[in-house]
Amino acid sequence: MYNAKAYSAASVTAPLASTTIPRREPTPRDVQIEILFCGVCHSDLHTLRDEWSSIMPTTYPCVPGHEIVGRVTRVGSAVTGFKPGDLVGVGCMVDADHTCPSCQANVEQFCPDVTFTYNAPDKHLGGVTYGGYSESIVVDEKFVLRVPANLDLAGVAPLLCAGITTWSPMRRWGDLTGKKVGVVGLGGLGHMGVKFARAFGARVVVFTTSPNKKDDALRLGAHEVIVSTDADQMHQHAGSFDFILDTISAEHDINAYLGMLGLDGNLTLVGAPEKPYAVSAFALLFGRKSLSGSLIGGIRETQEMLDFCGEHNITADVEVIPIQRVNEAYDRLVRSDVKYRFSIDMASLKG
Ligand code: NAP
Ligand code: ZN
Repeated sequence: MYNAKAYSAASVTAPLASTTIPRREPTPRDVQIEILFCGVCHSDLHTLRDEWSSIMPTTYPCVPGHEIVGRVTRVGSAVTGFKPGDLVGVGCMVDADHTCPSCQANVEQFCPDVTFTYNAPDKHLGGVTYGGYSESIVVDEKFVLRVPANLDLAGVAPLLCAGITTWSPMRRWGDLTGKKVGVVGLGGLGHMGVKFARAFGARVVVFTTSPNKKDDALRLGAHEVIVSTDADQMHQHAGSFDFILDTISAEHDINAYLGMLGLDGNLTLVGAPEKPYAVSAFALLFGRKSLSGSLIGGIRETQEMLDFCGEHNITADVEVIPIQRVNEAYDRLVRSDVKYRFSIDMASLKG
């Protein structure tokens, strides 16, 4: 075991503050990574504020961070895929049982024994896992991703969660070429959804509550922007979408978006608000519509997404911050004021 510098929150009301945490010495299958950048996901905020207490209660102290990019510093004796110096990523998972049907199907996120990157039982050290707001991490090589060398690393970090979470459901839906695709909420996930939908050849429409994001939405790849608080704009597009990805982090009227779908249209939820939705049966019955959810993505498809981003030069639009400003970043996330992901420069932790 060794100590690593990190930022943790001591309780549900405490801000994130400097601390040290234990990390294990690499086992034969482990990769030790010096963390260079870590994205700030709204899930970090939900977790720190224990907003998901009914599903996944938070254990304190909590070190969030599951959008990790770094450089390999050491590898265990049995590691074959990585060597010191390699640029790598780690997302929302650090382990699974490797044998269950979900692991066999390359959807490790649904393994009954999956270990999430933070706030999950730590099989090695006891207690809970600690995430990427830290100077280093040790991870089973099966959960380490290769990062294309041509991409800006601060903008790569968010691909490890915001990227794969929007990529996976759109890929699963099928060929989006020429389809009318809505992305609801222009935050960290939403802006990646826009970039991918555009890259997949869709006609992309952003639903936003923030009229001041319109120009950005168009620059990011949207063909059109609907201000969702404007009833006329909503009415004009009713019944016209093939697929809608809902990334909203807070309570909202989901029936309004089901009403935007055409025949056999699908709305996929990736946003994870604290409170349950009230879904109108009729909003689904008329038009034979479907409502589904999606959780991050498996390791294989995460690598496919990263490779695609390397080929198409896609990264997140980031505001790079020192870790000392992370609490301020959280306050801005709550106000939907992020352009479009905070990425923590972990060099700031060394100072
Ligand atoms: P984010 O950057 O804060 O973006 C959320 C966006 O939702 C905001 O920018 C805002 O967009 C919109 N929004 C916020 N409050 C709203 C409200 N009250 N009514 C309507 N729209 C509102 O968050 P994120 O990091 O993208 O995460 C989004 C959600 O996805 C979170 O709940 C997060 O936990 C969840 N998540 C799920 C997965 C998964 O695997 N399913 C993975 C990662 C994250 P506008 O300003 O454009 O309206
Ligand atoms: Zn996330």
